[in-house]
Amino acid sequence: MKEAQPDLSAAADLQIELLQVQRRIQTRVPLPSIRLEAKYLNDLLKSAPILHFEHLPVDWSDLRFLLRATATAMRNHDALDEADYRRAEELARQSERLPGVVREWYEAVRPGATPIGPELSGLESVLQQAMRPFLTRAGDAVMARSDLAGWTHGICPLCGGEPDLAVITAAADRLLICGRCAARWRFESLTCPFCLNADRSRITSFASRDGQYRLYACDVCERYVKAYDARRASRPVMPVVDGVATLPLDAAAIQKGYK
Ligand SMILES: [Zn+2]
Ligand SMILES: [Zn+2]
Repeated sequence: MKEAQPDLSAAADLQIELLQVQRRIQTRVPLPSIRLEAKYLNDLLKSAPILHFEHLPVDWSDLRFLLRATATAMRNHDALDEADYRRAEELARQSERLPGVVREWYEAVRPGATPIGPELSGLESVLQQAMRPFLTRAGDAVMARSDLAGWTHGICPLCGGEPDLAVITAAADRLLICGRCAARWRFESLTCPFCLNADRSRITSFASRDGQYRLYACDVCERYVKAYDARRASRPVMPVVDGVATLPLDAAAIQKGYK
């Protein structure tokens, strides 16, 4: 990608560094502490999201390492300003305060929850990257033993997070991919997952020049979601790679006034 699109090279370098950091921890993350039985999980999924903060297999000293390494990588690639970098460093040092802060961030996405306080705002993407090994481990374990087919909402059935990418399957279904735990679930192709607007005349959809990606923007809430079109692809969706490859689509959407 860096050769084909030199403009994306800095963003690609940052993602490569983050993956390397996460991989150091990923291999030793244990299973989540939720009962991993199909029937139990499928019953819970009727009133999801089902992964509570207490279920997450977080090792706090590993998380402190991940926070520092994530903030450093983002700072080095100009993805975090100096003040936020210092706040992230400070947070990584405060081992007593950390669990409460991470819980606040994790639970803030739930409907009716308290939004995150000023001490965390600006650090959401650092926390999301740092928590990724624990969240994806929990997400993978639950997905392997349950059936998400009955879930029809726009938020993640496992962690309650929002989708940050989608994939269009060979059968032309659209699967949303959670930006936090990477769970995937089927969602109506022309409905906005954020405000549930289903009026097709108020969904603007366009493809990248090579046809590999699509973008669905909502003219009601003005948010958008990008999708990897696996119908014309030689490889499966790779959220990290596809997230970088679609940066030009983000720019196009922002230029049209979406956010
Ligand atoms: Zn999730
Ligand atoms: Zn919308």
